[in-house]
Amino acid sequence: MYLAYKFRMYPDEIQKKKINSIFDGQRYAYNYYLSEIKEKGNKYANYYIQDSMNNLKKTNELVAPVRQTYINKIIFRLQDNLKKCKNSKFGFPRYKSYLERNSFTINENDYIKVNLKTRKIKLPDLGEIKIRGYRDRTSIDGMVRNATVSREKNGKYYVSVLVYLPDVKSIEPTNIVGIDLGIKMLATLSDGNIYENNRYIEKYEKRIKRCHKELSRKQKGSNNYYKCRKKLNILYTELSNARKYYLHKITKEITDNYDIITCEKLRTQEMIENTNLSKKISDVEFSEILRQLQYKSKRKGKRFYQASEYYPSSQTCSVCGHIDKKYKDLGERTYECNYCQNILDRDLNASINIMFEGLKLFMKNRYLKKAYKRI
Ligand SMILES: [Zn+2]
Repeated sequence: MYLAYKFRMYPDEIQKKKINSIFDGQRYAYNYYLSEIKEKGNKYANYYIQDSMNNLKKTNELVAPVRQTYINKIIFRLQDNLKKCKNSKFGFPRYKSYLERNSFTINENDYIKVNLKTRKIKLPDLGEIKIRGYRDRTSIDGMVRNATVSREKNGKYYVSVLVYLPDVKSIEPTNIVGIDLGIKMLATLSDGNIYENNRYIEKYEKRIKRCHKELSRKQKGSNNYYKCRKKLNILYTELSNARKYYLHKITKEITDNYDIITCEKLRTQEMIENTNLSKKISDVEFSEILRQLQYKSKRKGKRFYQASEYYPSSQTCSVCGHIDKKYKDLGERTYECNYCQNILDRDLNASINIMFEGLKLFMKNRYLKKAYKRI
């Protein structure tokens, strides 16, 4: 499996200059071709991009010093974006701005060295750079495959090191848990444990909303407008960091404590159609939780399953299996079964159902494997 370690990076002034010049070259090339495509049309884009690439590389002072591979990568990304926008869901690519996240990937894995004792990373062309992160580690696991250097929206530098880890053998499970993800309670576990939404995050959301309002009052393009936008960018990155930290804490605990872990799949169609901001944020949060649970389970030899998104986990009675359509909307907080008089918290009821679905998937998996061996 592949795994990424992301470090905050502190390049000195010379290193910063080198990194920024790569970003500048990439951005120039990207915007240059985008404007060409806007002018000449998308149809023969691939041909004239190849054609004028050499030209730009020779003549432009921003692009010339940047390695061809980095320029190629950003052009591939542009071509990808153009392909995507044909499938209508994505809009036509926009010009890249200095304020956005900029990144490039270094593939010479033999020359990338991470030393967590001295807290330094060695990168080709750039040399040794101070890093921060993973305080309790003295080394990283796995074999380094590549490193992505980025300057995020908040203007800070990061490096993400991708490593390859051989698969861990699954351990024999001794316990099982079902998890219901929700808006009111972030995660309800089938054994009654709960994880609340982080209050800290709510505070950020308020500040972001206020900042958005402020921005809408500023004149576009003015100095104050850019100041405000920068402030907003910083808030967004801080929020996403705070959220990530909290989610990592939760998924670490869950994958440490349980051997068979089951969640529901997310209803992607509903997610796309959603326009509510707080619902959108929680969707992002849910998919991040699922992603983390998946790779952490794999890393620890635990089993992770996802019940079908169409399984009626909140409508089914976890005791007798009776399905009551009444519980389809989110209004009711308690599940009351007409048949067996079972009364349970709605989320807990759902998480128990999800646990049973996980058990089914586990048994199916095991049985099928054994049956296959017999043949
Ligand atoms: Zn019942």
